[in-house]
Amino acid sequence: MKTGIITVGNELLTGFIDDTNASWLGRALTAIGLPPVWHLTVSDNREEIKSALATIPTNITDVIITGGLGPTPDDITMKTVADFYGFDLEYDEKYWKSLAQRFKRSGRTIPEINKNQAFVLVGPEIIPNPVGSARGALINQNNQRLYILPGVPIEMKAMYTATILPLIKPENVVAKVSVLRTTGIMESALAEKLVNINSNFPTVTMAYLPRITGVDIRLIGNDQVEIEGFKLEVERIAGDYIYGYEDTELEDVVGELLTKEKLTIATAESCTGGLVSHRLTQTPGSSDYFMGSIVAYSNNIKMNLLDVQESTLLKYGAVSEETVVEMAIGARTRLGTDIGIATTGIAGPGGGTPEKPVGLVYIGLATEKRVKTRKFIFHFNRQLNKLLTSQVALNMIRLELKNA
Ligand code: ATP
Ligand code: MG
Repeated sequence: MKTGIITVGNELLTGFIDDTNASWLGRALTAIGLPPVWHLTVSDNREEIKSALATIPTNITDVIITGGLGPTPDDITMKTVADFYGFDLEYDEKYWKSLAQRFKRSGRTIPEINKNQAFVLVGPEIIPNPVGSARGALINQNNQRLYILPGVPIEMKAMYTATILPLIKPENVVAKVSVLRTTGIMESALAEKLVNINSNFPTVTMAYLPRITGVDIRLIGNDQVEIEGFKLEVERIAGDYIYGYEDTELEDVVGELLTKEKLTIATAESCTGGLVSHRLTQTPGSSDYFMGSIVAYSNNIKMNLLDVQESTLLKYGAVSEETVVEMAIGARTRLGTDIGIATTGIAGPGGGTPEKPVGLVYIGLATEKRVKTRKFIFHFNRQLNKLLTSQVALNMIRLELKNA
């Protein structure tokens, strides 16, 4: 069995919407051991839809087509598929009545234009739509199965899960996907460290998924034992760079550690403008450990609310190791927490000097016992510099708690 995907829609090609149907289906099919090997996106146009159908490689057994099943005149997928394979479309009065009923129950009158959703292909099976009005179809042609689904993501997903998945899921293949999430190391450096692992676990496929805040390592395979072995080896080599698994966020890990250690935290944020606090409060239950924040953008606030010394600011400047140390201590003492975390920096694009360039940031972490600082010069835009600073801050908290 081999799978492929056709997504239909002008907006997909013009870039106004992202093709999340293709990525969702890609992951869903990969998870059952049938990763798509072919994918085409075409516009809502008869000729292009037909040429897509004509070019499906013959070795592909199952093709999922999404988009263009709605009631508006630009929705022509079903009609075009009917023409291409020579099926008649038949008006289904019973379905039209049930649709009208459904609209009535929610206090609306069904527009006449919806009538084209009551047309079905004569012959092929209908794929029911549990959450919307456009039904799909299953066509069996030349040893290929074509599943036609609507473009609306929640309808597409519901129909895939209810009808297609049970039909195509192989009995004994349980492809396992496992993700290890890292931060603080570049993709190439990570790859260099992990270069030899694969030879011991040949059935596992490893992929690097770099993002600005870190690199995810994705392992895919059918052999659970090999995947676990591979994972252990990655853990042994990458160690503290790994902060979590699957879709865990760094802030969730920090929250778990703070909860476990029964510690509280406060932030003093200059260049991140509250982003560290925002991320900390993304986690449910954060009120147990996150006490509050002082967004200290001006020197006055740094002095008056965080007790940063005027002499420190004059001598070293607001963006300095000395200032971030006093900010972190100030957050901790003024807000009465176990940990204080502070950021100061030049997010850009303006404000840089030769000694203190755009992207220079200091992050400080104060506990009862000690203060730690880190310095970076990031080379991204303002938003990404802020994001990266928050990532380092959260990671410093994680490492502090983990290795305490
Ligand atoms: P409708 O009944 O809404 O007309 P449809 O089956 O005709 O559904 P489209 O008209 O192609 O589907 O798309 C409807 C909406 O669904 C789009 O505006 C878009 O928001 C979303 N959509 C369509 N295709 C995709 C896709 N490949 N990825 C993500 N979203 C999509
Ligand atoms: Mg539509």
